[in-house]
Order: sequence, then structure tokens, then C-alpha cells
Amino acid sequence: MELKKQPVVQKDKPLGLYLHIPFCRSKCSYCDFYSLPNAEARMDRYVSVLSRHLEETAKYTTAHRVDTVYIGGGTPSYLGVKRIKALLKTVYKNYRVAPDAEVTMEANPDSLGDWRAVRALRRAGVNRISLGVQSADDGELRAVGRPHTFAQAEAAAAAVRKGKIGNLSLDLIYGLPGQTMESWQQTVERAAALEPEHLSCYGLKIEEGTPLWARRDDPDLPDDDLQADMYLWCVERLAALGYRQYEISNFAKPGYESRHNMKYWTLGEYAGFGPGAHSDLGDVRYAYVRDLDAYLQGVEQGGDILSENERIPPRDRDLEYLMLGLRTADGIEKRTFEYRFRLPFAPIQAVLEKFRDTGHAVETEPGRWRLTPTGFLVSNQIIVQVLDALAQEKIRREQAAADRDYRIDREYPAKM
Ligand code: SF4
Repeated sequence: MELKKQPVVQKDKPLGLYLHIPFCRSKCSYCDFYSLPNAEARMDRYVSVLSRHLEETAKYTTAHRVDTVYIGGGTPSYLGVKRIKALLKTVYKNYRVAPDAEVTMEANPDSLGDWRAVRALRRAGVNRISLGVQSADDGELRAVGRPHTFAQAEAAAAAVRKGKIGNLSLDLIYGLPGQTMESWQQTVERAAALEPEHLSCYGLKIEEGTPLWARRDDPDLPDDDLQADMYLWCVERLAALGYRQYEISNFAKPGYESRHNMKYWTLGEYAGFGPGAHSDLGDVRYAYVRDLDAYLQGVEQGGDILSENERIPPRDRDLEYLMLGLRTADGIEKRTFEYRFRLPFAPIQAVLEKFRDTGHAVETEPGRWRLTPTGFLVSNQIIVQVLDALAQEKIRREQAAADRDYRIDREYPAKM
């Protein structure tokens, strides 16, 4: 009997889930994320709608195994343990979650003070907490409307340890109003003293539309030179403390790199849920509306909640590969690039060689390139030049193909 050839279905494609929690106690003056203060009355409805959305989407991910779950926001800890537990229950019930999945929840120090809450979260599946500390100086925290003190951050870190969650990440910001080099160094030292496995250090970006925008010319905001010094000092100090920089803003003890965030930088698949959440699944990049009410109504009534929806086949992800790869310490690789995108690496290499000579890029092994810390500081400018070189190469190839077709048409005209 002849056996019929079965199509090969990959059953265990890794998938990250992102659950957006769009609630905050109050709004920080620099915040551009989609989150609402004073919306507690809608929390219960949101949890039931998000659960329904998770349930309805699960059927599209049967070939996937979830290896990371990230509950971000907003302030997930502000949603409360009971609601987080309900959401995780829905995830575990409807998705194939790997036993060693990384399950992260973001928290703010003012809503994670009780170790019993941490223990309950751990029992529900959370094994990584990302805590928004931002500064060890209470004056700096107040200046941007953070609703907590550094003492509360210390208490929250202690609660994480007492509740036996062994993977703690702290977020810090440099460039805050009134911040000096000395106060930034204090922030890094005092955060490191809490012995987190992971640290994220972001430069303050003043986005249009945020309250801080009106103060963008204030003299107490650290200027670009000081921000650059703050960044370079922290890269060096954290390396001395045993944290490996694995992305522009991220540092980890060995083995504690954020697996979920790595998906974003390495073109992995992820499915986001909630208003404003983005997804990249099955070659389609899509996002949901940044509007809580529209999202609630859309899921409840089966309406359209998409704000973006674009099919991007793997071959067309060359720009992303370069842009995102150059943010990471692993960088980009000639053979991978040429194999995946059928394009020559030489024009890109020529740009990187130029930046190698100025100390901004380095070839870490034959064909593999990454930016140095000073290169990370000007990464946007370098990336623009790399992308431009690639664009020029594509134009040259299209022109060459058009010339070839023209010659063939002339030499072998179609028979009339
Ligand atoms: S806590 Fe985070 S998400 Fe909420 S307003 Fe502040 S920065 Fe934005």
C-alpha cells in the first residue's frame, strides 16, 4: 500500500504571549504608554474581556508552544493578585504553556509590598518580576509624578525574595529632571545592592503629548552630554558587577536575559492582547486599538478591534533583522543575513567598517558585527546609514535586472 505524503506541521513553534494591563494609579509625567488612571471601575470587566479574547484566539496557536508570558502595562500589580490569577488561569487552560516558560509580571513598588501576594503570584505561575524603581532619589521620583518612594522599592524587592520569586528585574531611568551624575550613580549602586538578576536602564525620552513635553527646555534636565556620560558609566559599572549588557538598555546576570524581550529583537513570534498591544504571528504583524472602551466593546460584540494589520513574509524582514539585531550584543551576522534574505552583506559591512574605525562597531568573530557601548549611544545614526546602504544596493540590483530584461527583449523579441 502506498503511503500518502503528509504535510509537515511544526508542532512546537515557540510563542510569547503579551497581556497588556492598561491601568495605573496615576499618570507619570513622561509616560507615553497606553494606560489610564482612575479606571478601577472597569478592571473586572476588562479581565473578563481579556480572558474571552485569550480563549477565542487560542485556536490559532495550536502549532505553538508558549515559552514566555509577559504581563505588562500600565501597572499589572495595581490590577491585584486575584485578577492576575484569573488571567493566568485562562492562559494555562487554553494554551500549551511549556513547563519552564518564563512568566513575567510588571509591578510598581507601591502595589507590591506584601510577600504573601508575591507567593500567590508565584503559585499562579509568575516566576519573574519586573519592578519599576526608576530612581533611588525620592525628589527625582516626585519630579516625574511617580507614586512611590525608593524605600517602597526596597520593600517590594524584599517581598519578591520572601515570596520566593528568584528572578527580579529593576527598571531605572537616567536623564530625569534634577538628576546629577552623582545621584544617578547612587541610583545604580542602591539598585544593584538589591541584587536583581536583571536591570533595564533607559534614557528619559520626552515625548510630545506628555506633560513633561512642556518642560523639555528646563535647565534642570540633564543635557545630551551628561546623559551619554551617565549611560557609559552605568555600562561599565554594571559590567564590573557581573551584569552582561545584552541589548542597548538591558543587563543581566548570565542566564537571566529576558527571553520574552529577546523575541522582539530576534524576530520571534508573539501574540499581544489588550488595547494597544502588538503581535507578530504567522507572518502577520497586527495591533489592537489604543482605546480601552473600543477594545472592550469590540471583543464583547465581535467588532473590529485592529488598528494595524500587515502581512510581512520572512524574506521581507531584512530591515528589521538589521535594525533590531544592531540593538543587541549578539549583533548581526553575514551568513545569516545572506542566507535569509538572499542579499549581499558587503554594502552593510562597508558601513560597519567605517564605524569600526571610529570605535563604534566591532567584528566580534568573522562575519559577526555588533555596536560598542559608544556605538549604542548613536545607534540611530549608524542604523540609518546601514539601512541606506541596503536601500542603495536594492536599487542597483533592480536597475541591473531591468537592464537585463530590456536586453533580452531586444535580442529575443517575441514572435508576432
Ligand atoms: S506607572 Fe508606568 S505605565 Fe503607569 S503611568 Fe507611570 S510610566 Fe506609565
